[in-house]
Amino acid sequence: MSQAIIELKNVSKKFDGDDVLNNISFTINRHEFVTLLGPSGCGKTTTLRIIGGFETPSEGEVLFEGKDLLALPSHKRSINTVFQKYALFPHMNVYDNIAFGLKVKKTEKSVIRGKVEEALKLVNLSGYERRNVEALSGGQQQRVAIARAIVNEPKVLLLDEPLGALDLKLRKEMQIELKRMQQRLGITFIYVTHDQEEALTMSDRIVVMNKGQIQQIGSPEDIYNEPQNAFVAGFIGDSNILDGVMLDDFRVVFLGHEFECVDKGFGKNEIVDVVLRPEDVKLKPQNEGMIQGLVKSAIFKGVHYEMVVETEGTSLIVHSTHLREPGTPVGISVVPFDIQIMKKVAP
Ligand code: ATP
Repeated sequence: MSQAIIELKNVSKKFDGDDVLNNISFTINRHEFVTLLGPSGCGKTTTLRIIGGFETPSEGEVLFEGKDLLALPSHKRSINTVFQKYALFPHMNVYDNIAFGLKVKKTEKSVIRGKVEEALKLVNLSGYERRNVEALSGGQQQRVAIARAIVNEPKVLLLDEPLGALDLKLRKEMQIELKRMQQRLGITFIYVTHDQEEALTMSDRIVVMNKGQIQQIGSPEDIYNEPQNAFVAGFIGDSNILDGVMLDDFRVVFLGHEFECVDKGFGKNEIVDVVLRPEDVKLKPQNEGMIQGLVKSAIFKGVHYEMVVETEGTSLIVHSTHLREPGTPVGISVVPFDIQIMKKVAP
């Protein structure tokens, strides 16, 4: 059996003549946790809604286990959705909210009871059956919404910013819980968020989107360590993105200095984006290092200091556990491996 459970092939979507999705293709494998990540308006929700059957693409194909999914109405797909707004039935208790879909399908009462109990156990809400949903906290309501989705035993669960309404501490706890739940259930999760940290924490693979197009697909490590363009680098974590010129293989000029790098295959004198992660820029005593700069500001961020260092008219963000006070002249160095060269993309 093929590993692929969902395949999008050249999917485009127009709303009122505007391209919202532009020729996107990707495959999601069984039991995978895949996150669609990107800024507001990039088309994440539209992609999810097409998979869920709430929207039809203007062009392209969507396959489920190798068969056309678009021909099936939403309720016939083995797919359930959890939204940010929990959309629970306020006049029903927890049990009836979770049992609703099974009752509609005329499932036998004793089977429903067993399945609801199982689902409540999975979301850590055993014993809450008779509670009114409106009396529950946001986190508990979201668990009920998840239980209501998994009780139908879908093969794929779509989650659209499901933790967006929760406070930061609860969100972090729920991220870990959701990931564990997904592993235990063996269901494929397709998760939408604009929060890069959330995506890096939970996903097996991340699809980074911008303006209706896929920018990169890869594991969290790939996306963080090997961003394919300046958009991905900028969106995933803090980055210094500088203009540079590739002199030749392994030689690049930026900040008025020639650096050795590990990239090759660019044109001679090609203008490129140079990406430096803040933790990879090393500060040295004045007159050491490759170039000289001046510390403009420094703030404590919990684990490290974040300093802004001005050099050659450019501000660099630098992370270090060693504080340099504002006003301190410093040397700056970067090792070749930490200099990432990217092709310029059209803005
Ligand atoms: P967010 O994180 O803000 O939800 P998103 O990446 O999920 O953003 P979408 O909700 O997919 O983005 O929206 C993509 C674009 O399509 C937006 O510009 C949005 O205004 C537009 N759009 C979405 N649904 C419709 C609709 N039914 N009619 C017209 N335009 C729409």
